[in-house]
Amino acid sequence: MAKPYVSVVIPVYNEQDNLETLFSRLTAAMDRTGKTWEVLFTNDGSRDRSGEMLKEFHKRRPKQVRVIDFNGNFGQHMAIMAAFERVRGDVIVTLDADLQNPPEEIPKLLAAIEAGHDSVGGYRKNRQDTFFRKYASRIINGIRAKVTRIQMRDQGCMLRAYRKSIVEAIVASGETSTFIPALAYSYSADPAEVEVEHAARSAGESKYRLYDLVRLNFDLMTGFSVVPLQVFTVFGIVVAVLSLLFVVFLLVRRLIVGPEAEGVFTLFAILYFLVGIAIMGLGIIGEYIGRIYKEVRRRPRFVVRAVHEVLDE
Ligand code: UDP
Ligand code: MG
Repeated sequence: MAKPYVSVVIPVYNEQDNLETLFSRLTAAMDRTGKTWEVLFTNDGSRDRSGEMLKEFHKRRPKQVRVIDFNGNFGQHMAIMAAFERVRGDVIVTLDADLQNPPEEIPKLLAAIEAGHDSVGGYRKNRQDTFFRKYASRIINGIRAKVTRIQMRDQGCMLRAYRKSIVEAIVASGETSTFIPALAYSYSADPAEVEVEHAARSAGESKYRLYDLVRLNFDLMTGFSVVPLQVFTVFGIVVAVLSLLFVVFLLVRRLIVGPEAEGVFTLFAILYFLVGIAIMGLGIIGEYIGRIYKEVRRRPRFVVRAVHEVLDE
């Protein structure tokens, strides 16, 4: 079989109870498109049977199923990145392994690509997640829209399609901590969005705990904007100006009314507030420095243990 038209990319981390259904629904949906296709699964260091199951899928359809086996858990975005380095299709589709993104929606994305867009993002209709996740996402989406230049309805939806040129630019970026939909958006000349269905997780549980979500969003903010740093500069200037006015006021007051010793606790309150803000600013600087440090060490972004695939020329 020659080079396929579509490459589907799926990161997998402990998804044994979803894979069988995913595979049958995916193959059925892709076969129905009448296009040539391949799927690249990245096993992101699963500790359940996912790895063996993926190898078995490769045996069932050796020329269509390619499996990248990571040496450990390097995260969803790196799992996608490893597949992006290897895709052969003209169009690349990403989706989650837990069936929250129905494979039956892929033709919608392909249609938008064929209409001329170079990247297509899905946004989830009736998102099926916990109340907390939905609410937190809405806030984060809002902050992101203000802080970065990325205009995207639903940053967390992974059901997306890209032209090969976009994926090549993403791979060439070589960043260690990144957010793939945002990177794609920044390279895209003509992005589009389509509404896609969303289902509750079919089995197993979300791999993202609160801490992971916070880290992921810091990657997004620091990776695509320096506004958080600039906010502190502006805040510093405002505080300095107000303090100067206050000093002048106290000076004049002292000359007219005399020295004062009241309002000590008010002063404490203001001081603690400002100390809190300053520590937060240090933390934000730390976030950037930590990421710079990670990049300059130039360690491998992920380690591939094995690749199961059959490629002909
Ligand atoms: N995933 C991964 N590595 C990880 C965490 C998640 O490859 O370290 C995969 C996971 O198997 C799934 C997708 O990324 O296919 C999205 O994960 P999940 O459904 O847990 O995230 P949520 O839908 O809760 O945001
Ligand atoms: Mg999910």
